[in-house]
Amino acid sequence: MEQYLPDIYQQSIYAVDYKKLKERGIKCILFDLDNTLVPYQIKTPPEKLISFIGELKKEFKIVLFSNSPKSRLRPFKEQLEVDCLASACKPSSYSFFKVLNEYRYNVNEVVIIGDQLITDIIGGNKVGITTILINPVSTKDPWWTAINRSRERRIMKKLNDRDLFFKGRYYD
Ligand SMILES: [Mg+2]
Repeated sequence: MEQYLPDIYQQSIYAVDYKKLKERGIKCILFDLDNTLVPYQIKTPPEKLISFIGELKKEFKIVLFSNSPKSRLRPFKEQLEVDCLASACKPSSYSFFKVLNEYRYNVNEVVIIGDQLITDIIGGNKVGITTILINPVSTKDPWWTAINRSRERRIMKKLNDRDLFFKGRYYD
C-alpha cells in the first residue's frame, strides 16, 4: 500500500510549508492543474493564484505538470509565466523522468503537488520524488477523473483500515 501514500498531506496548496520544502533541499515543484490549482472548469488563473505562484517562483522552479492537453494549459502558462508539461500521462513515469532529465534535478530535489492518489501520488512515488496530496479544490470532476475517484475511494478505505491515512488528518 506504500505506493499510494503521499509523503505530505495538506488541505490545499496554500497550507503547504514551502519553507520546510526548501530546507529539505527541494528546488522544483511540479503542480498538477485540475482541482489542485483551480477547478477544471476555470479557464484562466485567478489573481490570488497569480500572486501566490509569483512568490513561489522566487524560491523554486515551477512546472505545471498536467494530464490535460496544451490548449488547456496555455492561458495558465502565459499568465503564471511558468514552464509546463501537458499530456503528462500520469501515473506513467515517462514525463517525470523527462522533467528530471531536462532540468537536471535529482529525485530528492523535486516534489509533485496534486489532488489524486491514482495519478499524481502513485506517479511521483514510482520515480522517488517527494509527493504532496492536497484536497481537490472542487467536488466536481470531469468524467474521466470520476472513474479514478471511485478507485481512489477504495484505496483510501484500505489505507483507513490499516490506519495509514485519513481524509482530513494532515501531516508533513
Ligand atoms: Mg488533478
